[in-house]
Order: sequence, then C-alpha cells, then structure tokens
Amino acid sequence: MELHLYDSWERRVRRFDSIQPGRVGMYCCGPTVYDYAHIGNLRTYIFEDLLRRTLEFNGYQVQHVVNITDVGHLVSDGDDGEDKMEKGSRRSGKSAWDIAQYYSAAFMADFRALNLLQPAVWCRATEYLPEQIGFIEELERKGYTYRTADGIYFDTSKQDDYGYMARLDRDALQAGVRVAIGEKRSITDFALWKFSPLETRRQMEWDSPWGRGFPGWHIECSAMSAAHLGSLFDIHCGGEDHIAVHHSNEIAQTQACHGTRLANFWMHGYFLQTGGEKMSKSGGEFLRLQTLLDRDIDPLSYRYLCLSAHYRSQLEFSWDGLHGAAIGLQRLRDAYHRWPQGGQADNAWLQRFHSEINNDLNLPRALALMWELVRSDTDPATRRATLRAMDEVLGLDLDNWLPASIDIPEAVAQLAAKRQAVRASRQWQEADRLREQIRALGFLVEDTADGPALKPALEGARHER
Ligand code: AMP
Ligand code: ZN
Repeated sequence: MELHLYDSWERRVRRFDSIQPGRVGMYCCGPTVYDYAHIGNLRTYIFEDLLRRTLEFNGYQVQHVVNITDVGHLVSDGDDGEDKMEKGSRRSGKSAWDIAQYYSAAFMADFRALNLLQPAVWCRATEYLPEQIGFIEELERKGYTYRTADGIYFDTSKQDDYGYMARLDRDALQAGVRVAIGEKRSITDFALWKFSPLETRRQMEWDSPWGRGFPGWHIECSAMSAAHLGSLFDIHCGGEDHIAVHHSNEIAQTQACHGTRLANFWMHGYFLQTGGEKMSKSGGEFLRLQTLLDRDIDPLSYRYLCLSAHYRSQLEFSWDGLHGAAIGLQRLRDAYHRWPQGGQADNAWLQRFHSEINNDLNLPRALALMWELVRSDTDPATRRATLRAMDEVLGLDLDNWLPASIDIPEAVAQLAAKRQAVRASRQWQEADRLREQIRALGFLVEDTADGPALKPALEGARHER
C-alpha cells in the first residue's frame, strides 16, 4: 500500500519512497537538556514515534537517530543571550555536565513512560566536536563564513534560496530589523562557533582553529545527522517552531557543504497549546509528565490524548480533555482484557487501519476505526488479536497492562450474587436497586458478554512496564 506523508519543503502531502529499498533514515531534533521536558515537547516525540511505527508497519527498517543538545543553545533563537546549559548550572549550583546528565536521564524516563521506541542512536553534541569543527572548516573553505568579535558566522546572503522551506522573505526581514544584530551582516546569519568570553572561563568549551569556544546550535544537527545517516537521508523531523530558524539553518549549512537539502521529507509536529499559546518553558503553565503522575494520571492517557488530534493541528490542552482520554484508554484496556486470547487478526479491519495511517498519519481516524472494531460483533478473540496488531502503531501497550487485583468485600460479593439471582428471574427493578446498594459501597457492576464484572468506582488499576 502506498504511504503518503506531508512534506514541509513542498508544502503538500506526497508519496513516500525511501532512498534505499526497505530502509528509512530518520533524524529527529532532540531535547536541550537544561531543564525537564514539558508535555508540549513530548507531543512532538509522540508524533515522531507514531511516524516510526507507521514506517515499520509498512515493512521498513528504520534507522532512527535522536540528538541530545547538551551544550550551548542560547536562550533565544538569535545568537546572543545566555547559554541555556550554563544558565541551568548557575540556577542549580550543579556543573553544566551534571545538569546535562541529570536532565538527559529524566528525558529518557519520560520516553520510556510514554512507550516511545528507543532510537537506534542517541547522539550527544558534546561527543561530536571533531565532526562539527570539520563541518565549519569545510564551510570556511567554500567561502560561506565570516568572523566577528564573538564568533564565526554563516553568511546567508551567499544562498539565493536561503529559508526556502519557511518561504522566508529576507528583504522584508532585513528591512524590519529592530533589534541590534551586532556585527552580523544580516539578520538571518547565524553563529557556527562562539568564542568563550575572555574574562570568564566557561564550563563547556573546546579548542578550535578559530579559538577557544563552543559550537552553535544548528551545526550539531547537520554534523551528527551526516555522521549517522549521510548527507541526504529520508526524513528529518522536529516541532513546527524549527521550520523558520533551526531547520532553515541546518539546510543552509548542508546545502553549502554537501549540495543537498539534507532530507527528502521534512516533517513537523504542531504545538500543544495552553490558553491559545504555545506551551513553553518560559511562559504559561509548565506541565511535566511528573505533574500528571502526581495526579495519578497514567502517561499513556496523555499518549492517547495525542492520538486524538492530527499531528499537523495544534492541540489545546485541558484537564477535561486528558480525563476524557484516560477514560477512553481504560475502557479500551477493559475490553481488550475481557476478550480471549488465541485469535487471528482480521485482515479486512487491518487494511482499513493501514489506509488511515498511510494517509499522512491520520491517527484520529485510525482511533475511531479501532473503536468501531471494539463495538462490532466481530468474534471477541479476533477483535483482541486485531487490536493487538493495531496497537503496534498506536503504542498504548494494551498487552502489558495488568488489571489490578481487587479485593471484593464479602458484603459486596453477596449483593452481587443476589443481584444475579434476581436478574435470572427477570426482576429488573430489584436488580437496579441492588446495583445502587453496591455502588454505595464503592463498586460498579458492569454486565458484560461474559457475565457481571465488579470494579471499584474509582479506577483501581496499575500499569507496569
Ligand atoms: P527543545 O528542548 O526546546 O529544543 O524542544 C524539543 C522539541 O519540542 C522540539 O522539536 C520543539 O520543536 C518541540 N516543542 C517545543 N515546544 C512545543 C510545544 N508547545 N508543542 C509541541 N512541541 C514543542
Ligand atoms: Zn536539530
């Protein structure tokens, strides 16, 4: 079946064909580890995981590379302001290296909790200094750089199509410059290498042909993706905010150095918003996965919430929405575990599912289809096996969810038995009265195809992985 994906370069959905048969190289911009990830950041990684799982569902072997920005990355997209890592260090009193270690570990824990597949490669910027320096040297040889008092810059005026993906109007940008751009020749030029300030010693700095300092942010992704995937690979991903600056700059560098646009497909996840604005670390509500855990919300409920919105539409966060997702997920788990094992997945259902995900990852439609299957009169064992196959993409980890073992108090068990008896003799009103008595004791009775089931009125389930 053909796979169609939206390409931000061409701004349209088009057919995906891999460069090498059966294999896909995919690079995803990872976190800057000076703080915890918020659930907005995590939405982007969930989108990338869904993309990878969809590619695998289509039979591709995916070489998935994610970077960890553990150096530099100034507080603004411009080239000034304080370095985020050093700022984190000052705030906490820990060394910049310890900060990077600590927040990388926290990020990996979030990754696992959301059931995101492990990338083939995690690459840390600090481990690729020779590659980054080599890349800048090559740009220098080709005449794309210039030097200012604070660093080596990329000269964007050398490229007619700089910023094509973002359809940037450079003249308008330049005319509208209202901020001081220092010695930069143009507002769109960006740092490749920044010099350490003379008066202070940075915690993270390296020697280079241009002097002691540290690499700019954009160069790390160009250098590390080339190191692992070559100078032209299949898919490059990130959040929508990367289109205008970070990815435009990665493309500019790679075009200058290797003559390619780096990736055949550029794909971007849209923002999670709060109060109509991008969720960010600096402003608004900063929600971490831990914030959800503190409220007894399973991280996979958040994953489920993300499935309900297309990755190319912004998603407004609300607690009500998240609670709705938690209920949906719980119903799904209950149904799945009620059905017997040992069935065969149904091909007709899977075909329909396949065509939804292959249509630019239409997960909301795929989710709706899955519910259609749950409610259908398909044989329960077949439903379970089909759902399991769909879950390879949805990643809700249905199989590993363990219903909590619950103690049913004797009084509740007796009422339930009595209710069964009155139902058998079709005394419905009496049966309803008993159901209310059971509820008053904190339990719900659900009449399922396999007979009545009791569960605590408050969700009592645990999830183990
Ligand atoms: P950062 O750690 O800030 O470099 O961001 C990590 C990833 O999260 C990048 O791909 C960003 O584009 C993405 N991102 C940042 N804010 C949001 C948001 N509110 N919603 C979705 N993705 C985001
Ligand atoms: Zn990047």
